[in-house]
Amino acid sequence: MRLETTQPDNVPELSIKVRDQGGRALAYGVPSATRPGLYHFANSTQCTCPAGQRGQRCWHTAAVGQHVAAVRTQQLAQRYDDIFGGES
Ligand SMILES: [Zn+2]
Repeated sequence: MRLETTQPDNVPELSIKVRDQGGRALAYGVPSATRPGLYHFANSTQCTCPAGQRGQRCWHTAAVGQHVAAVRTQQLAQRYDDIFGGES
């Protein structure tokens, strides 16, 4: 089984992760859309950007939420292959 996920253009690559000691991802570095080189740290509910600090929902938290959902879907697909055997 192969699962294709498409990455929307407006979702950045989330390669920077902040992990706790157990290896759980606490937050992701999301590149600022307006200031190159600036990263905001966000999870799916909180963000360090100005809007996030005011308690507003910003696109960084939305991007992390989408990313986490996509990763989870891939992990579930992998587990399915482990259990049922996958032919690709
Ligand atoms: Zn933000």
